[in-house]
Amino acid sequence: TTFDNLGLAEPILKAIAAEGYSTPTPIQAKVIPLLLSERDVIGVAQTGTGKTASFVLPLLHRIVRENSKPAAKQCNALILTPTRELAAQIVDNIRAYSRFSNISTTLVVGGVRPGGQIKALSGGVDIVVATPGRLLDHLGTGVINLTATKAIVVDEADQMLDLGFLPSIRKIMAKLPKPRMTALLSATMPGQIRKLADDFLNHPAEVQV
Ligand code: AMP
Repeated sequence: TTFDNLGLAEPILKAIAAEGYSTPTPIQAKVIPLLLSERDVIGVAQTGTGKTASFVLPLLHRIVRENSKPAAKQCNALILTPTRELAAQIVDNIRAYSRFSNISTTLVVGGVRPGGQIKALSGGVDIVVATPGRLLDHLGTGVINLTATKAIVVDEADQMLDLGFLPSIRKIMAKLPKPRMTALLSATMPGQIRKLADDFLNHPAEVQV
């Protein structure tokens, strides 16, 4: 498989080439077509496999194709991560892969004053990359809502469990509309993550690498 025959939009292919990627990694070759065809996905993969691009590229593709900008206080897609560092890395990846597209992304994490996030969110944003606690704060004050969020990714779900974030994840998931696209990535699949997937994913395809 090449990136070209995965069917990704031209500005995304151009950015992938600029990154110097020549072929999709195994998880990308499996997950990208599933997400492009609107399937829910469970991806069992470690970091270093290219898992980030496997969900980011299809999200970007959908946003480029739909070409409709989010309204105030809304976001098209949401990515949840267990740590601030991982969230920041994903934002960096999104900025690189969307350098030839007009896509906005906002980092929503704790440990920094909320003013900048509030300002960015209030105008509406294509992709929010968040840790659960700070996102729940913003959902509570109403600076952002998930009524127009058509895609959600839960990254490193087993780390979320270890850090005690599962109740927060469940609260956030319960606010999302249907139908939507849901992807869950995890290095391992303990029982509570399996249960989370059963409760919130719609007939998911499961990919292991
Ligand atoms: P990840 O597993 O998402 O943390 O990605 C691991 C590293 O692989 C990151 O530095 C990516 O920039 C890089 N990467 C992702 N996909 C590819 C690819 N198809 N070809 C080459 N490098 C890649």
